[in-house]
Amino acid sequence: MKQTQKSLVTLRDMTFSYEPNQAPILKDVNLKIYPGEFICVVGPSGCGKSTLLNIIAGFLKNQHGEATFKEEPIDGPSWHRGVVFQNQALYPWLTVGENIAFGPENRGIPKKQIKDLVESMLIEIGMTEDIDKHVFELSGGMQQRVQLARVLVNHPELVLMDEPLGALDAITRIKMQNFIRGLWENSKSSVLMITHHIDEALTLGTRILVMKAGGGGIVKEYAVDYTEKLLKDPNRAKIVDERYLKIKEEIYKAFN
Ligand code: ADP
Repeated sequence: MKQTQKSLVTLRDMTFSYEPNQAPILKDVNLKIYPGEFICVVGPSGCGKSTLLNIIAGFLKNQHGEATFKEEPIDGPSWHRGVVFQNQALYPWLTVGENIAFGPENRGIPKKQIKDLVESMLIEIGMTEDIDKHVFELSGGMQQRVQLARVLVNHPELVLMDEPLGALDAITRIKMQNFIRGLWENSKSSVLMITHHIDEALTLGTRILVMKAGGGGIVKEYAVDYTEKLLKDPNRAKIVDERYLKIKEEIYKAFN
């Protein structure tokens, strides 16, 4: 289905090393990300997940092969490719509202429009009452919601998330997974998210990419529909079937 669409991101034989004489961290990576996809990237620590994300974000430059966004070479960061990190990157001297307004202000959007954008994002993240609070007054989950709002207020076509829920406790993490699934459904942005958590990948992603250490790159991928099932089923009936368990087992083995 997706293959008939134009890809948002294309990596073609993309190779990257941090040092000129070092073996590549990523070697000949090929990947296409299509509009509407929710891609989860899993793999052992050090296999190059963050490096891959940082190349797509434009923070790092590939040395060989192609890395394009909407057919243009990725040549630096852009608000079309919003990034959410694990540790909150909010400005502590700004309020919740000011943090969300920061991107649109930098893009020169008129003040009245920014006010409307901020209000609609606060409704989206369920924090209308918190507009004037400072970062230190917020829980970890609230800070992550503001981070997401700060990225989504720019209506990026692609949202890149590097272990966004890694610092949260288990219950908050599940709530945030549900929250992110809803935001993805409403925002129509594509998502690429790195996670260490196999169940998180299975219940959020529409496609899971498995990476291997030692420059192995993407070694396996799975198209999955559990996130769509969860969206359709407000009662959150059991979604773990035989395939779910098989994929989980295969990914688990790939980690070892
Ligand atoms: P992952 O996200 O899968 O844990 P990373 O992309 O962070 O992996 O790192 C891949 C490899 O690149 C690791 O061996 C790491 O030590 C190395 N690396 C990461 N950042 C740098 C850097 N700035 N300079 C040199 N090596 C780095």
